[in-house]
Amino acid sequence: MTLTEERGPDGRTDAERQAAWLAEEARFEAGFASRKAADYHTRCRDCGVFVKKSRWVKKDSFDAIKHQQRPLCSPCWSEYDHEY
Ligand SMILES: [Zn+2]
Repeated sequence: MTLTEERGPDGRTDAERQAAWLAEEARFEAGFASRKAADYHTRCRDCGVFVKKSRWVKKDSFDAIKHQQRPLCSPCWSEYDHEY
């Protein structure tokens, strides 16, 4: 992604917009900071990469037990049709 100093329709540069997005994401992730790896499935089911806490799946959750639900990292997630 190329960052430019030009201001878009919202009056912000790409850099400002990206900084705001990163701050928003950091705030979102912070909401999951108390999660303990021991209680969660923490790796992508397809490639095995360690995923962000917000994507973790609790080991004793209904979906994890009954439906074998596991985390997916963003690259693997984008490989799928988002129909399920
Ligand atoms: Zn993956």
